[in-house]
This record gives sequence, C-alpha cells and structure tokens, in this order.
Amino acid sequence: MNFLVKTKGHNDFIDITDKVAKAVEKSDAKDGVAAVFVKATTAAITIMEFEKGLIEDVKDALEKIAPENFDYKHHAAWNDKNGAAHIKSALIGTNLTLPIANGKLNLGTWQRIVVMDFDERPREREIVVSVLQ
Ligand code: ZN
Repeated sequence: MNFLVKTKGHNDFIDITDKVAKAVEKSDAKDGVAAVFVKATTAAITIMEFEKGLIEDVKDALEKIAPENFDYKHHAAWNDKNGAAHIKSALIGTNLTLPIANGKLNLGTWQRIVVMDFDERPREREIVVSVLQ
C-alpha cells in the first residue's frame, strides 16, 4: 500500500508512524514484517524519537556531515543544488524493515517512523509499505 507525503524540503522531518500503522492494520497480516520505502534519492526514512530538540540536533549533525551550502561535484551534472540532499539520503537510507506482531507494528515506546526530506524545494514523496507474512 502506498501513500503520498507533502514535504517542504531543506531538512523537513515528518512523522509517518500513524499512516504506516494504518497500512499494516489494513493488510490483515497477523505476524510478519512491513518494508517501508521512500521512492527518492534526496529523502530518507529512519526511526527516531520525534522530539523538537532531538530533531534540531539531528539536523545540525547532518549539516556538519553534508552542509547545504557547498560546491558539490553533483551540481555540475544537472545544474541543481541538492548535492547535500543526495549524500544525506545515501547515508541514512530509504527503507526500513519493521516487525508486525498480533496485527500491529511492534515498535518501542519512543520509536517513530520519520521521513526526512533534504531536497532544495518542496516535494510530494511516495511512501511504499509492503507487508510480508
Ligand atoms: Zn540532484
């Protein structure tokens, strides 16, 4: 099952846990795994506590690794300015495999599924949830 998420770009973090949980419940799977995937090379998907301070801390840490304002070689390929976004996406990854138990996502108390959009402009991202049982 797929759904779309509107993002603002420039390190926009969006909690999609409830949408993924709904997709899992609709699948009628009792036990198995949910593969969650974002179809993008300038966005990523991860698990984290979705707390204001931590969100800023993660953004700051990623900016140290791949600052937006830098002359990346990639910019010469398409004349875009999203080299940093591609690096962050490649490092964090675009998919998760999550356990399903008793028909529900089996996450820890503070674990939220978060889409991170690093691109230089607003985007509409397709999230793919594949349930295997
Ligand atoms: Zn690019």
